[in-house]
Amino acid sequence: MSDHGRIVPPGGTIGIVGGGQLGRMAALSAAAMGYRCHIFCPDEDSPAAQVSAQATVAPYEDTEALDRFAASVDVITYEFENLPTASFARMGAVTPVRPHWRCLETTQHRVTEKDFINSLGIGTAPYRPVASLDALEKALTALGRPAVLKTATMGYDGKGQVMIGADDSASDAFAAMNGQDAILEGFVDFEREVSAIVARGIDGSTVAFDVVWNIHRNHILAETHAPAPIPEDLSDQAKAIASTLADALDMAGLLAVELFVTRDGKLLVNELAARPHNSGHWTMDACYASQFEQFIRAVAGVPLGDGSRHSDAVMTNLLGDDIDQWRDVLAEENAKLHLYGKAQARPGRKMGHVNRVFPKR
Ligand code: AMP
Repeated sequence: MSDHGRIVPPGGTIGIVGGGQLGRMAALSAAAMGYRCHIFCPDEDSPAAQVSAQATVAPYEDTEALDRFAASVDVITYEFENLPTASFARMGAVTPVRPHWRCLETTQHRVTEKDFINSLGIGTAPYRPVASLDALEKALTALGRPAVLKTATMGYDGKGQVMIGADDSASDAFAAMNGQDAILEGFVDFEREVSAIVARGIDGSTVAFDVVWNIHRNHILAETHAPAPIPEDLSDQAKAIASTLADALDMAGLLAVELFVTRDGKLLVNELAARPHNSGHWTMDACYASQFEQFIRAVAGVPLGDGSRHSDAVMTNLLGDDIDQWRDVLAEENAKLHLYGKAQARPGRKMGHVNRVFPKR
């Protein structure tokens, strides 16, 4: 997967595909290191474009605009995964794309992703690909109930997911997939959910952040507690899993690994994201180098920073109207407010987050 190891020194331009909050915070870190960012996003006035030197506003299918964008930057990365890999392959012929678009190919599809994870001897929930009602019925017999049916692609924050309990109809669940490829997963009766984020440089070096505990409400991340209150050997295992996966993907960039801690103290990988992750926002105020700084360093091909935790932290997402708390948060001690510049506070929309920072225990 060599991309010829191009190093982009400060002063260079980083192209970011996707204009959301992850791109915004990455662009702010890039600016702090002397880089310029060029955002590619279909929306006007996107959160990332608001803080970047340049923006192209065009549909993701506009190959001419993508070509111009690729030619105008020194390296390309992405903060949005649901993009055709062909677009990245095309841009990659002109400008290095980091992480390599083949990482996206692996992580965009839940079945390919789980096949890849299991091929490395790392555990996941048991699963079966589901392309028909017949396949779903067979998979339910094999895995038992309850089970979780998910669309294989384009799912996030619990969208495209149906739980199938003892008395639920398989055909209703199948209909909810709207004809999309799906995956059935055995239900994991987990004790808690954690995540491990690792940065991997173009030289193959890795730096992992401390493992954190994630609390979801309505399938959306509500809080992250750093560090996770789990035994040290378990958190070492989670970091090792993240590094093994990043090495196997031979990626330059950031890999976020969401895991279940089962009631008998084992780790099962739920999902991967080859980009900065909501569960890494705490690092902005509690680590020497944040996830966004590590991401930019990795993508630019310069040495990774010190990702160690200097403080404990609790990150709370501000969803929808929660943004109205801004005044109280600003008045709070040890709290840091991060808002994303989104005009409309729709219910459940990620508008910002607060990091509450405490002395390291
Ligand atoms: P996902 O979109 O795969 O990250 O799933 C969203 C959330 O649904 C997870 O964070 C879990 O809380 C829950 N979930 C997903 N898959 C399973 C599973 N196989 N067993 C139990 N809970 C799950």
